[in-house]
Amino acid sequence: MKAKIRDQGILFKTIKYRESSLILRVFLKSQGLVSILAKGIRKKPENNLLNTLYTYDFTIYEPQETGLYLLSEFTLLKEYNIFSNLPTWTAAECAAELYTQIIIPLEENTAYYDLLQLYLDYLKKRGDNAILLWWRFLLRIFIKLGIAFPLDSCANCKKKNVQMAAWKKGTGKLICVSCLNEADSPKYYEILSSRASQILHLLPQIGDYLDKIHPDSQSVEQLNHLFSDHYANHFRKPLKLRSLEVLSQFYL
Ligand SMILES: [Zn+2]
Repeated sequence: MKAKIRDQGILFKTIKYRESSLILRVFLKSQGLVSILAKGIRKKPENNLLNTLYTYDFTIYEPQETGLYLLSEFTLLKEYNIFSNLPTWTAAECAAELYTQIIIPLEENTAYYDLLQLYLDYLKKRGDNAILLWWRFLLRIFIKLGIAFPLDSCANCKKKNVQMAAWKKGTGKLICVSCLNEADSPKYYEILSSRASQILHLLPQIGDYLDKIHPDSQSVEQLNHLFSDHYANHFRKPLKLRSLEVLSQFYL
């Protein structure tokens, strides 16, 4: 028998497997993203206790030839019961989807796990305008990924604490109003709407403004695009999340 491991984890997804089993995609606090085979669980009442985005204490066996961990037992640690608030739920799913796309070094698993827990707790407590919390979460992930995104310093003149007017398409590099006015080729820049610019400015302290700022469809589209450009500038691929497309639909 392989070694037994006990670890807490957030359930991202369940996939039906053969007649009566499930494969659980779980982000474990110390092991990171793993697949766990839950043999015969669909025949048992325990099946009803498994909910995505809930936190469990898992006891599992190390992978056999299949590469899957094997579930021994689990207990519920934390509910995430906000099914009734779809935008908030979708904002949580964005984070789970993001974690399946980025590469998280083994020694960083716990830090990423804690960040995700914090985010879920905050969404549960303050779910209004969840997309604002999503963007703030994304900024924190950028820092963890080593690609911190400076929101208040102009990429051109390097002035700090200025409100941004536009960004250079495809790069996410933000520039201030005076630099935009002097730009030789304005067509290379995407002009931020005043709402989008305001949100960017407030994003680091967005917790204080959740019920004061209401993102409209234009600012949602622009800021998603901006963050994707910033990501692509470093990783050579756009940030594409299906859940984020769904989340954006709530702001039409
Ligand atoms: Zn400038």
